[in-house]
Amino acid sequence: MARNEDLEVLVCGSGAAGLTLAIDLARRNIAFRLIDKAPHPFAGSRGKGIQPRTEEVFEDLAVIDRIVASGGEYPPLRTYTPDGPVDKHAGIPPEPTPAEPYQIPLLVPQFLTERRLRERLAELGHAPEYGCELVGFEQDPDGVTARIATPGGERTVRAAYLVGADGGSSFVRKALGIEFRGKSLGVRALVADVRADGASSRVWHRWGDEQPERSVSLCPLHGTDLFQYMAPVPLDMDVDLSAEGLTALLHERGGQDGVVIREVSWASVFTMQARLADAYRCGRVLLAGDAAHCHPPTGGQGLNTSIQDAYNLGWKLAA
Ligand SMILES: Cc1cc2nc3c(=O)[nH]c(=O)nc-3n(C[C@H](O)[C@H](O)[C@H](O)COP(=O)(O)OP(=O)(O)OC[C@H]3O[C@@H](n4cnc5c(N)ncnc54)[C@H](O)[C@@H]3O)c2cc1C
Repeated sequence: MARNEDLEVLVCGSGAAGLTLAIDLARRNIAFRLIDKAPHPFAGSRGKGIQPRTEEVFEDLAVIDRIVASGGEYPPLRTYTPDGPVDKHAGIPPEPTPAEPYQIPLLVPQFLTERRLRERLAELGHAPEYGCELVGFEQDPDGVTARIATPGGERTVRAAYLVGADGGSSFVRKALGIEFRGKSLGVRALVADVRADGASSRVWHRWGDEQPERSVSLCPLHGTDLFQYMAPVPLDMDVDLSAEGLTALLHERGGQDGVVIREVSWASVFTMQARLADAYRCGRVLLAGDAAHCHPPTGGQGLNTSIQDAYNLGWKLAA
């Protein structure tokens, strides 16, 4: 039985929230462990919009330069009308001010954002421990005793605090019995990272705009040769996530025949939810990120609020 009496914080989940918290704890010299049940980092683009407030957080964590270098600004939106393509450019942003130093949202695929966070964490001498699943915990007035399943068997770890940054299906939230109130929004969508022939990577393409539930879009992912393919799909539709299936759906919804999906590197179908945990804390156990709230992707709240939760928690745990 491995015990670590000096451990201050056990962070469960090394997504955007867990990584941000780990960097903040590392730079404050707080003893922590960051575990994740997955065998390796998540590979999908998912949350690609980085908002100005998150850029401020990244500046403070000394990752903003490499995040900017990894991505870029949002490209013009190209919609296809019966009269031909129409490009919509973003307006000129206001000048930065000390109160609002960042004005331009960034487009960075989430797997690159998380890679940059891991690089920063490595500079501070730490790394996520993959293949380590939190399977149980108990708390008392002095700390939390957690059980972790690892490839080498089950381990017991003692920490002053446990943070559940373990995503929307949070094991920690469920184990605490905290309600996750809200609703399913009745909207289902497919999202995929694809390589495509015949589509310019200088614009964000959207076809079928006149009927949003039959639209399909291809957004170039800066820093890669990929596009993020997104399309709403009916709740009961069998979705073919192969390159041929995605090409057929794109053509059916008005995409030009010249655009062909050649390769799919990641794909998912999800139902949009809007939910909020009844509490973010129960004694020495806290929730952060999607474990505490989840949003539809529109507006880019998920990734950004997860990072901001963790940033808000780091200094408080250190104190
Ligand atoms: C299609 C799509 C598009 C999106 N678009 C946007 C967008 O444009 N902008 C935006 O801001 N957000 C967007 N999001 C949301 C964003 O991806 C999430 O909000 C974000 O990943 C949440 O980060 P997190 O660290 O809280 O959780 P996650 O990224 O889910 O990480 C949780 C981690 O916990 C680990 N874990 C789970 N259980 C355990 C356990 N028992 N033990 C150990 N580890 C465990 C998991 O393996 C995982 O690595 C999008 C999401 C999707 C699906």
